[in-house]
Amino acid sequence: MTKDGSALDLSRRIQKIEVSPTVAMAQRAAGLKARGERILDFSVGEPDQDTPSNAAEAAAAALLSGRTRYTSSAGLPELRAAIVQRYRKDFKVSFAEEEVVVTNGGKHALYAVCQALLDRGDEVIVPSPHWPTFSEAVRLAGARPILVHAQEKEAFKVTARMIGKATSPRTKAVILNSPSNPTGAVIDAEDLLVIGDMAQRRKFTLLYDDTYARLSFSRPDHSALQALRDSVGDRFVIIGTASKSYCMTGWRIGWVLGPKPLVDACIALNSHSTQNPTTFAQVGAVEVLSGPQKAVNDLAAEYRRRRDFVYPALAAIPKVTCVQPAGGFYAFPNLGRYLSPKVPTTLELGRRLLDEAGVATVPGEGFGAPGFLRISFARSMDELKEGVERIARFLARIEEE
Ligand code: PMP
Repeated sequence: MTKDGSALDLSRRIQKIEVSPTVAMAQRAAGLKARGERILDFSVGEPDQDTPSNAAEAAAAALLSGRTRYTSSAGLPELRAAIVQRYRKDFKVSFAEEEVVVTNGGKHALYAVCQALLDRGDEVIVPSPHWPTFSEAVRLAGARPILVHAQEKEAFKVTARMIGKATSPRTKAVILNSPSNPTGAVIDAEDLLVIGDMAQRRKFTLLYDDTYARLSFSRPDHSALQALRDSVGDRFVIIGTASKSYCMTGWRIGWVLGPKPLVDACIALNSHSTQNPTTFAQVGAVEVLSGPQKAVNDLAAEYRRRRDFVYPALAAIPKVTCVQPAGGFYAFPNLGRYLSPKVPTTLELGRRLLDEAGVATVPGEGFGAPGFLRISFARSMDELKEGVERIARFLARIEEE
């Protein structure tokens, strides 16, 4: 029997999984919008800009010229080559083409790697506040996520010390996400290298999710990734996606860069599950990765401008504290001082903020961080200005209740 009493026998594995809290909030906001209410939606984790037109044109031309058949379950050879080149140019890190597998987005890249790497009883260290899919993908593979908590007073920095303290003989992998969803924190190069050293000595795999790397607001240290790869060797895996940097969330193009045995295992898994991301979408991705990079540079500059508005504006609300995001497009303010017996959790606060002030956010509970709200600033400046005002007014009002 399932929780709702139906006779359908779902697997124990799937019964433990819940719909992502981000998706749940977006659905609630969509319901209110459908009723004609003006909702400011800061729950969504996707750019508000369109896909660069050169990618759209390349994909459309591919579709019209009949590129509608399967590709290899590793992805198009020219896309594997384009990914390798992009990482060489942007991050000065070298992988061979056979060390790349193309996936249906970054979520699928993470899923495939967890399936290929993890067994029951394995532990995976996940620094928290964390993107919920990290812990769920680990659970779906039968392994156990071990959350380690980064602190607001330390600007949510993930340090080698934190990771070191959480390792055990069962540690199979550590997931790092820099810049982080939801905190916007970036891991320092020195910490990365110490964690890399630990991975080598204690024989765990480093899963490095660089989804927001092209949207960093300070000059990234380009020496770190190749140094990390040199020291960690076959235990270093990058999980990436075209979704955010190239405004291609709906295209479903992501990738894994890592040792050939792991990549080959993901290719085998693809051959029995998804086969390949849509062929003409892959052609568009080749174009966006190998063509001019102006769009992604402009996007990073635009998000920096929005960050420079939204972070001080949130931090200026009485009793709200906020760490300055160093990359990505999320702010993660602490609203804990507004909680009371009447509004005991940020889940309740977020629900009321949506219902009473028309502002959708994602409560920190979903990221392992009650007391916080995630606010996506991948929204227009006008919406952000009105949104911050609505939040400030709403908070002032609930204090008087
Ligand atoms: N990693 C992180 C940290 C993310 O925030 C996301 C999207 N929210 C992804 C991976 C995956 O994105 P996609 O599946 O669209 O490539």
